[in-house]
Amino acid sequence: MKIYNTLTGKKEEFQPLKEGQASVYSCGPTVYAYAHIGNMRTYLFMDWLRRALKAGGYTLKHVMNVTDVGHLVSDADEGEDKMAETARRARLSPYEIAARYTDAFLADLDALNIERPEIIPKATDHIPEMLEIVEGLCGKGYGYEISDGIYFDIGKFPGYGKLSRIDLDELKAGARVELNEEKRHPADFALWKKAPPEHIMQWPSQWGMGYPGWHIECSAMARKYLGDVFDIHTGGVDHIPIHHENEIAQSEAFTGKLPARYWMHAEFMLVDGGKMSKSLKNTYTLSDLRERGCAPAHFRYFCANAHYRSKCNFTWKGMDDARTSYNRLVSALNAHREGASGACAFADDAKKRFTEAVADDLNIPKGLGVVWEIARYPEKHRALYELMLECDAVLGFDLGAAPPEAAPLPPEAQSLIDARQAARAAKNWAESDRLRGELKAMGILLEDSSQGVKIKRL
Ligand code: AMP
Ligand code: ZN
Repeated sequence: MKIYNTLTGKKEEFQPLKEGQASVYSCGPTVYAYAHIGNMRTYLFMDWLRRALKAGGYTLKHVMNVTDVGHLVSDADEGEDKMAETARRARLSPYEIAARYTDAFLADLDALNIERPEIIPKATDHIPEMLEIVEGLCGKGYGYEISDGIYFDIGKFPGYGKLSRIDLDELKAGARVELNEEKRHPADFALWKKAPPEHIMQWPSQWGMGYPGWHIECSAMARKYLGDVFDIHTGGVDHIPIHHENEIAQSEAFTGKLPARYWMHAEFMLVDGGKMSKSLKNTYTLSDLRERGCAPAHFRYFCANAHYRSKCNFTWKGMDDARTSYNRLVSALNAHREGASGACAFADDAKKRFTEAVADDLNIPKGLGVVWEIARYPEKHRALYELMLECDAVLGFDLGAAPPEAAPLPPEAQSLIDARQAARAAKNWAESDRLRGELKAMGILLEDSSQGVKIKRL
């Protein structure tokens, strides 16, 4: 299997440390809000990597953390802790906020058929492991104390900037007006923050009460579960210049070894060609998609059309097309199920091409193209049905278990559903009820729930 390594800027043959095993660390969510579809794109990439490695014969040891403390409003150590800020606004404790959004996040993973990593540690359970590294770094001269915390001295670590290929002078030139005059370099980052008395999450340390910086969490949890060196580290592209650069600096300064050999990053999802942001009200969640009649499986299908290293642009039109295509794929699968038994030469060729696509830096869109060739093959073969399911073990659409309502709806029913959605959005309840009645007469039942609209066949 070849994978693109951000660290070297090249596609490289994957060579695991241990024969037949892949150790993977994925940066997980900060659990202070519902995950949006951009976040989920990054976790779908993580899942496709898992599934591809498994299909390639590797057993997996995969860790994905949950950040429940220490991620400040700005990744560059400024502002309040995201958890604490949300808790203050909601008048709940940060632990209640963390529990609520961790559950919601895991439910989203399940809904998208994203396999859960073997180990899902949370930051607040690993304070001693983090302090061990912070103390060790201070002992080795990489950490220094200032009035608000303990900072990492990037000037002492010669490799700083190797992931994003930027040097210290460039970083200094690009830094905003320095808010913290005590830091030795503007890009020095917090390993440990001293907690003011009102900060709810705080733990004892040799520097008094405090809480960890975001970056140290990943260094500590990766080391605890995967050792000083492991195979692959994943995250979103936004992690390259700060979070992962800092993780490398801390871990390598502490252990003397580069923590991961391959660094993989998923590109961002855009909405209507632009940035996703709360102010534009386009940070959609899976629930928003369900409200528009799009199931999580349709969203997974949508994401499968773009390579993880390309930006992917979410539009409702694209999402509707994905739903239609997904449903057609289910019908095509079912047609092959009833096909002729016996060998099919095309199946062998298609299988080879699918495997090659996935092994080429996770080219899921190309793999999906091969699955469509299988689906469209004019002769119906049971062997092609079985091959589609085999490919689906990597794509993760769960096509075999797709409920009957996933079969294509008649086009007129789809337009009635869309019209009803528009009526609901315009709060025209009478029209919405009338359209619902029309659909019922066609044998299609719509149920509105907190999860969105469910479509059932009578
Ligand atoms: P967070 O919970 O904010 O730490 O983000 C969780 C994950 O989602 C990280 O791996 C980010 O890189 C990723 N992410 C954030 N925004 C987007 C986006 N628009 N598209 C794709 N991935 C994103
Ligand atoms: Zn991380």
